[in-house]
Amino acid sequence: MVTDSNVDEKTAPSDNKPVSASSGTPSPTGRPQRNLPGTKDEGLYQWPQRPLESIESAFALREYLQSLIRQDPHNVDLIIALPTGQDEHAWLYEHLCQICLELNYLIVHLEPECTPEVCPEMRAEEWMYYCATHPTPRECCAIDYLTHTLDGASALLNNVKFFPSRICVPEGSVKNFQSIARRLYRIFAHAYFHHRDIFDAFEAETSLYDRFLKLSRSRKLITDKLIIIPSLNNDDDSVATGARQIMSRQERTSCAQRAKLFNGTLVNI
Ligand SMILES: [Zn+2]
Ligand SMILES: [Zn+2]
Repeated sequence: MVTDSNVDEKTAPSDNKPVSASSGTPSPTGRPQRNLPGTKDEGLYQWPQRPLESIESAFALREYLQSLIRQDPHNVDLIIALPTGQDEHAWLYEHLCQICLELNYLIVHLEPECTPEVCPEMRAEEWMYYCATHPTPRECCAIDYLTHTLDGASALLNNVKFFPSRICVPEGSVKNFQSIARRLYRIFAHAYFHHRDIFDAFEAETSLYDRFLKLSRSRKLITDKLIIIPSLNNDDDSVATGARQIMSRQERTSCAQRAKLFNGTLVNI
């Protein structure tokens, strides 16, 4: 079993806000970069993409990332590509913060359906997960697990002890990205296996899982054997299928002992 003891739940997330309107800085065309009162949905955020180097803000990377997503959330390769001259870990940090923000919306969509009565345990496929955001890992119903896990990830990312600056991520804090990604993956997995309609509708609108998966795999935040959601893209079938077969042969066998301990259920923490 693996637990993350470095999640500081006492540190409140400070950046859990929706994609923000903007700083009001004039665009190159002179148009203010903010949504004016009365702007219709289709007119929101309709200002030109600004080059990263032209954004004068302490949150330039975040603003740039959010503008890429607003422009076309499905252009995942462009969104996850490291901007020229930027620090890889700082870029990764901004992505994980942004993914946490957007996962809040997925959980909002899940809440009416993923109730303690419908999903009394946190499961994804044949796996059951114990919630590690408590002093002692314990069973939480799925919606609580999702919320606790997302809050824990946000708290860790906003913990100045590990991430004192947005510009430079301390080398010792980089390892936290892997544990965060592994846990966030389970949120997607529960939605996929237990609330497929909601997952599909959300993914069609946001490509958030596609972005998360490509980012995590390209930066080796999660290993293929942890991937239990079948590939959503035809071009990636062989890898995902291979991962599922590895999972079947090795993981399930190695978990047999634990499964006995937990009344036939594969439990992970
Ligand atoms: Zn559920
Ligand atoms: Zn919990």
